[in-house]
Amino acid sequence: MLMQQRAMALLTLAALVAGCGKAAVTARPVATATLAAQEAPMEGLDGDDRAVFHRGTPMPVPPGRAGRWLLVSNHNHSTYWDGEKPLPLMQSEAYLAQFDAMVLTDHNTMRGCESPEFKAPPHGLIMVRGMEWGAFRENGEDVVGHAGLLGMSGIDGPPTGAGLDGMLGEATARNATVIINHPFCWHNTWAQPKPDPRAHAVEVWNGWWYRVNPIMHNDQALGWWQDALKEGRHLAAVSGTDNHGDNIGNIARNANLVYAETPDEAGILAGIRAGRVSITSSPTAGRLFLEADADGDGVYETIMGETLPHAGKVAVRARVLGGAGKSVCFYTAKGRVAIAAVKSNDATIPLTAELTAPHDFVRAELRAHPHLSFSMTAVSNPIYGPAAL
Ligand SMILES: [Zn+2]
Ligand SMILES: [Zn+2]
Repeated sequence: MLMQQRAMALLTLAALVAGCGKAAVTARPVATATLAAQEAPMEGLDGDDRAVFHRGTPMPVPPGRAGRWLLVSNHNHSTYWDGEKPLPLMQSEAYLAQFDAMVLTDHNTMRGCESPEFKAPPHGLIMVRGMEWGAFRENGEDVVGHAGLLGMSGIDGPPTGAGLDGMLGEATARNATVIINHPFCWHNTWAQPKPDPRAHAVEVWNGWWYRVNPIMHNDQALGWWQDALKEGRHLAAVSGTDNHGDNIGNIARNANLVYAETPDEAGILAGIRAGRVSITSSPTAGRLFLEADADGDGVYETIMGETLPHAGKVAVRARVLGGAGKSVCFYTAKGRVAIAAVKSNDATIPLTAELTAPHDFVRAELRAHPHLSFSMTAVSNPIYGPAAL
C-alpha cells in the first residue's frame, strides 16, 4: 500500500508543480490521468477522515468570549489569473465544503477581489482579499519565494521584481497580513534563512500534507517554523490549499480554523496575525484545540496564539474532535515532549508544561501515527511563555 501511495505521489508531482508556480500546460494531462487515483480512499492519510462535522458544529471556546471559530480556506487561485475554475464555482464549492470564509490569492493580481462575485458572495460566504506575490523563473525573473498578502489596501500588488525586501516594505506599508507561502517548494524556495520579522505567518501546510511532500516539503516548513518559535518569534502557522482548480476536483482540502472576534475579513485577519489558528487536513478531518489555565482556577481561558501572564508550570489541554484512534503529540522548545492516544471523538488530553521564558511555548499535532510524518491530521498554533519583564 505504501509503495502504491509513493508511486501515486510521484505521478502527481508534475501536476502539482502548478501549485507553487504558474500553472504549466504540460502538467494537465497528468493531472487528468491521476484524478481517479487521487480520489481512491487511503485510510489514515490527510483529508481522508470522515468525522461528523457540519456547519455550526460547536467548537471549544473559553467562557466569556464573543468570537467564534471560522473555517477558512486560504490560498486559492481562480480564472482571474491562472486558476482553472471561475470564482463563483469556487465560492459554491467552498460553501458546500462547509467553509465560512475563502481567501482569494491569484498570482500578482487582486483583479478578482474587485469583481462583483467577490463583493457579493453567495451563501453568506466571507471573502478575504489577497494575492500571491512572486516572480516566475519561466519569465526570466529572479525567483525568491512566494508570499500571501492578505487584506492589502489598493488594487495592484508590489511588482514581481521588487525583491523580498521591496515587497515586504510595500506590503507592510499597505497593512497586508504577510504569509510566507510554501517556503521549501522545490521550485520556489524562500530566499531568507529565517522568516523575515515583517512576516506574520508561515504556510507550514501547502496542499495535501502527504501527496505534495516531494514538492512542497511541508515537514521542512514545519521545522523552520519550530526553529523560529525556539528563537522567541511569535509567528503564526497557517495552511494554504494552493487550489488551482486543476489537480484536485474541489476546495475541500486543508483548512484553517481561525478564532475571529468578528465574522468578517477584519476579524479573520486579526485572528491569523494573533496566531489564533488551528490547521486541519480537511473540513471533515479531526480538529485540535489547545487551551491553558493560566491562573490555576480550573478555567482554561488561554487559547492558541496567546501569551501566558506568569512564568511557571501551567495546565494545558488539547481538545480533539473527531480524532478517535489517532495520537496527540505535544511540542515545546525542547521538541516533542509527550504523545497521547486519542480514545474518543470528543477527547480532552491534559499536559503540564513549564513555560518560564519568552521563547517558551507549547503546541500540538494530531497524527494518525505519531512516528510517520505523512500521517498529519492537524497542527495547532502555540500558547506562548510569558513576555519579558
Ligand atoms: Zn506559490
Ligand atoms: Zn499558489
